[in-house]
Amino acid sequence: MAELRLEQLSKVFADQTVISDLTLAIPQGAFTAILGPSGCGKTTTLRIMAGLEKLSGGRLWLGDRLLADAQTHVPPEYRNMGMVFQSYALWPHMTVAENVGYPLKLRKVNGAARQKQVADALEVVELGAYATRSPQELSGGQRQRVALARCLVSEPQVVLLDEPLANLDRHLRATMEQTFRTFHRRTGATFVYVTHDQQEAMSLASHIAVMHQGKLMQWGEPETLYQRPQNDWVARFIGKGSILSLATPSHIQQLDQRLLHQSAGHTQTGARSLVLIRPEHVQISPDGLKGTVESCIYQGERYLLELRLDDGQTLSAFHSAALALQQTVGVRLLHGWRLDAA
Ligand code: ADP
Ligand code: MG
Repeated sequence: MAELRLEQLSKVFADQTVISDLTLAIPQGAFTAILGPSGCGKTTTLRIMAGLEKLSGGRLWLGDRLLADAQTHVPPEYRNMGMVFQSYALWPHMTVAENVGYPLKLRKVNGAARQKQVADALEVVELGAYATRSPQELSGGQRQRVALARCLVSEPQVVLLDEPLANLDRHLRATMEQTFRTFHRRTGATFVYVTHDQQEAMSLASHIAVMHQGKLMQWGEPETLYQRPQNDWVARFIGKGSILSLATPSHIQQLDQRLLHQSAGHTQTGARSLVLIRPEHVQISPDGLKGTVESCIYQGERYLLELRLDDGQTLSAFHSAALALQQTVGVRLLHGWRLDAA
C-alpha cells in the first residue's frame, strides 16, 4: 500500500512555526481534503508533499519510500506527483495541446504516442475540440481543465490540488467538482485537495483533515466531522450550530431529548459542559423550553432562526415558516453532542 504518510511534520519560516507536529496517513487512491481557514498552513503542507518546500522536522513517506526528513529531500520531479494550482499556471505562448503535452515532451515521449496521450487527456476533461487554441481564448473553468489534463498525462501516483476552484464562480464550481470526481475515478490516483471551503471539501472528499494554526484538529469522514467534532473549534468551523453550556451528566456524549431538557432546566451552578446543538435538531413546538425569536432569515428552502433562551444563551434553529420577531416560542432539543469529552 503506497499510502502518503506525514509523521510529526513541522515547518518553521524564519522564527514563525507554520506547521507543527502534523501526523496523517492518507490512504492510497483516496480523495482527501485539507480544510482550514486562510493562513492555517494548507499550501505549505501541500508544497512539502510536492517537494517544493523543505520540511523543518518529521518525515514524509510514500509507501515505504522516504521522500523527506531533516536530511533527505527527494526532488519534486522524482516524486511521481502532479500539482494543480488556483492560478492554472499554463504557458501563454503554447496551445492547449502543447501545454498538456509538455510533461511528455520533457520525458522524450514524441510523435504519435504523445499526440494520442494528449488527445486522450483532453477527452477526459471534454476539451478535445480546443486543442489548437491558446489558453487566453479559454474561460477560467476551461483553463483549469487544461491544467488537469496536463496533470493527467504524466500519470501521477498522487495529485495535489491547491484551491483549484477558488477563481471560479459558484455555478461553474459544481460542474468542475464533477470533473474532479470523474478525473479521480479515471486515474485511481491519491488526491489531496486543499480548500478553505467546507462545502467543497465535504462534497468531494471521503476523508478530511481539518487544520487550524498549523495543527491538525481532526481527521475523519465528513459525517464524523459534522456529527462528532473533536473540539469546539471544529464544531464552530464545520456547519452551523449553537454551543450551549449545560449541566449534563459528564459520562454521556450523545445526548437525547430527555437528557437535554433535564440539564437545560437545571439552573444551579456546578459542573457544566459545552454541548453542540445543530439547527436541524431544534424543533419549534407548543411545549419545551421557552425561547424568544431574535432573528428570522429566509434562506430559500427554510428560515434560519436565532432564539434567546430564558437563561440568556442563544440557539439557532431551522423552521419551515417565518416567525415574528420578539415572539416567544416553545423549543425542543432533539439531539446534542457533548464537546469537552470528545
Ligand atoms: P494557507 O494555504 O492555509 O492559507 P499557507 O501555508 O500559505 O496557508 O501559510 C501559512 C503561514 O505561513 C502564513 O502565516 C504565511 O504567511 C506563512 N508563509 C507561507 N509561506 C511563507 C514563506 N515562503 N516565508 C515566510 N512565511 C510564509
Ligand atoms: Mg493557500
